[in-house]
Amino acid sequence: MQNRFRTALFLFAIPSMILSACGAMITPDNRSGNPLKVLAVESFLADIAQNVAGKRVKVDTLMPAGIDPHAYQPTPQDVARIVNSQVLIINGAHFEEWLDETLQNAGGDPILIEASAGLSSRKPSANEALDPDHEGDPHFWLDPTKVISYVENLREGLTKVDPEGADIYTANAEQYIADLVELDNWIMAQVSQIPPEKRLLVTNHESFGYFADRYGFKIAGTVIPSTSSEASPSAQQMAALIDTIRQMDVRAIFLETGANSKLADQVAQETGAKVVTNLYTHSITAGGGEASSYIEMMKHNVSLIVEALK
Ligand SMILES: [Zn+2]
Repeated sequence: MQNRFRTALFLFAIPSMILSACGAMITPDNRSGNPLKVLAVESFLADIAQNVAGKRVKVDTLMPAGIDPHAYQPTPQDVARIVNSQVLIINGAHFEEWLDETLQNAGGDPILIEASAGLSSRKPSANEALDPDHEGDPHFWLDPTKVISYVENLREGLTKVDPEGADIYTANAEQYIADLVELDNWIMAQVSQIPPEKRLLVTNHESFGYFADRYGFKIAGTVIPSTSSEASPSAQQMAALIDTIRQMDVRAIFLETGANSKLADQVAQETGAKVVTNLYTHSITAGGGEASSYIEMMKHNVSLIVEALK
């Protein structure tokens, strides 16, 4: 559904956008003078996109910082912002499950840039809980090397909409990809402090799969056995998680900020594992703070993980 929608938009919406973009008003290196209305759904995605857009275009964020994107439903004001945007940047891979219905009902026709286009979903390994309700895992961004694909898609998408900015988007993307490679190297070095056999993750829901694959962790279990935080575990699943944590001697349960810690606290009481509560996985922090950008968010999380497991 989403794919069909996007294809249609690319075929029919872009020519008119290019015409209006060529109609004079875009001024290079003048953010306030650029009339292009670009909206990114999640705050971490807006930060990544802003790095590609640079000073040429301002990227606004739809979701307020700290919100759980899995539980999100657009308010009437949000719908108005979506309708009024010319370019809407989404993570894709079924992360924005509310989007098709919203666009159909609201009647807006923003050009969609799907940041994760072309990336294929990971297959959980045999000992990981499988999520029967969700098509694939959308959490690509927790592996910075996959964010390189996001940056390439953003560069291509912005260049199509605003061809006169091509050189700027290309140069910005190149710089940010270098920053992502540096981040990846930094994470590798940090994680090397944790002995391989202790690289066991229990998280709130299934969000760290790509991170685990990249940095040699095993997903020992999740409190919520789903790639969405909207599901809840059965008593049997809770008991199985407690068994696993005991058997594998898992040290810590990691929760993203905003997650309900009640179930994790129960598991911790039964097992002696520690609950680490303030990972930023689905949102950066507003107005500065300890995870004020995508890169800072990743560093913050890795520091907490290394501290708890080394
Ligand atoms: Zn998630």
